[in-house]
Amino acid sequence: MPNLLSNIVRNLFGKPATRRYPFEKREPFAGTRGHLEIDPDTCIYCGICSKRCPADAIAVTREPKTWTLDPYRCIVCGYCVEVCPKRCLGMNAAHVRPPQSKPADVV
Ligand code: SF4
Ligand code: SF4
Repeated sequence: MPNLLSNIVRNLFGKPATRRYPFEKREPFAGTRGHLEIDPDTCIYCGICSKRCPADAIAVTREPKTWTLDPYRCIVCGYCVEVCPKRCLGMNAAHVRPPQSKPADVV
């Protein structure tokens, strides 16, 4: 019984155990890869990232110049960042809110 009372008092007046997401954000843990980002101004649309991606998550076309990522396929391995000859891909560890709906072409 004394344990129960002390637990109740601690929970009533102590700091909350959970975070008020999304109002309070946590800094990413060390080593977090986050998500893939591209600098479209530097990309030459060579398609190397698409060919090397083990998850087939990137689609590149030269004409018209398009680069698209399927976030539901990407396993965040970072291999495309390593192989890009223009260094225009990078991992951003910042938290992003999940999409509210799937793109129409993803099944
Ligand atoms: S490898 Fe780099 S430069 Fe080539 S298409 Fe991919 S992101 Fe663009
Ligand atoms: S991080 Fe890995 S899985 Fe994601 S797009 Fe790049 S190579 Fe593909």
